[in-house]
Amino acid sequence: MFQEAFRAFLQKEVVPFQDEWREAGIVPREVYLKAGENGFLVPQAPEYLGGLGINDFRFQQIVAEEIGRCGETGFMPQLHSTIIAPYILNHGSDYLKEKYIPKTITGECILSVAMTEPDAGSDLAGLRSNAVDKGDHYLLNGNKTYISNGICGDIYIVAARTNPEQPRALSLFVVESDWQGVRVGANLKKMGMKSQDTIELFLDNVKIPKENLIGKEHQGFNYLMDGLAEERLICAAWNTGSAEYAFNLTKDFVIDRKVFGKPLSYMQNTQFKMAELRARIDMAQAFIDTIVANTNRGDNDSVAASEAKLLTSELLCDTADEGVQLHGGAGYMDEYPISRVFTDARITRIFAGTSEIMKLIIARSIFE
Ligand SMILES: Cc1cc2nc3c(=O)[nH]c(=O)nc-3n(C[C@H](O)[C@H](O)[C@H](O)COP(=O)(O)OP(=O)(O)OC[C@H]3O[C@@H](n4cnc5c(N)ncnc54)[C@H](O)[C@@H]3O)c2cc1C
Repeated sequence: MFQEAFRAFLQKEVVPFQDEWREAGIVPREVYLKAGENGFLVPQAPEYLGGLGINDFRFQQIVAEEIGRCGETGFMPQLHSTIIAPYILNHGSDYLKEKYIPKTITGECILSVAMTEPDAGSDLAGLRSNAVDKGDHYLLNGNKTYISNGICGDIYIVAARTNPEQPRALSLFVVESDWQGVRVGANLKKMGMKSQDTIELFLDNVKIPKENLIGKEHQGFNYLMDGLAEERLICAAWNTGSAEYAFNLTKDFVIDRKVFGKPLSYMQNTQFKMAELRARIDMAQAFIDTIVANTNRGDNDSVAASEAKLLTSELLCDTADEGVQLHGGAGYMDEYPISRVFTDARITRIFAGTSEIMKLIIARSIFE
């Protein structure tokens, strides 16, 4: 029922506006409010905070898959609900939960996470942003980059160094976008994901009240690592949904398109390519369903999540690439959605941990 309801919501409130949002380079805030009204945001939040209290990861999986299945890359409830909200829900104080979570459920407060810096992406130990303890507040300075939901975002979960001597002594802070010293850079021009607002963030002498520290000081690295298994699993679900979308676009096209007097779908090459992709998408789906079932049993396997992210990123890129090829020249034209999937897909091998970092994690589990 949740899946059908969310699918219907996307068909009504998202799909008809995708071209408009792509032109604008951003999605309107109202789409988060509408999603909130319908109970689609942060469904895992407890009822006393206004959530549905659903402790079943399948609900979050459905959101990510359905976003992928309709080719949406700007409106990101999966980032908001599954990747970012848990930093506050799992590690934040009651004060932070009560102050921010109810508004993240209604969509009044859109979430963004700011870890990456110009000189530190994969290697978070290289972060330079720092927050100095000034008694009743922290003073935050630093530059962040490639921050998703950066313009829509009302709060940023910012990672900053709190002990200059120790590279892993990071802390996480809730920073509001309208605080003095917080400056949002331009909406970065990207290869794909055109309706997603991705920005640079400048933090100059930002005074952070002590109570906006998430959890304990210097523990940010552990909190970040803690969230990564679910972050990668949700990316894998999104990738697989997106691969399904690319597959269906191509299937419709090859049935319609005639070459040498016959539908393109009659060619053995077309059938074999599509058969290979179908088999890989079905395998990926089964693997994700298994990891989600394990997550629901309390087994948060970060290696399995890394494997899923690695393989589904490749799957999505391959499905988009084969799709463009089977479309011929049309596949290179902006008006054909497969061309957009091709450029949108490329990021999946880079963000939320690159494919090389996924391989490092998997390799460590083999050889350690
Ligand atoms: C569209 C977009 C949205 C994003 N959204 C966010 C966001 O919301 N918040 C946020 O904090 N960040 C975000 N990011 C940042 C993203 O997570 C980083 O770009 C990513 O983690 C890679 O970091 P980097 O760009 O610094 O590349 P680097 O870390 O500099 O990597 C460069 C290359 O080196 C390789 N490499 C690095 N280390 C190793 C190693 N140990 N062994 C082998 N190879 C290695 C990488 O795999 C890559 O191929 C986003 C990025 C993009 C492009």
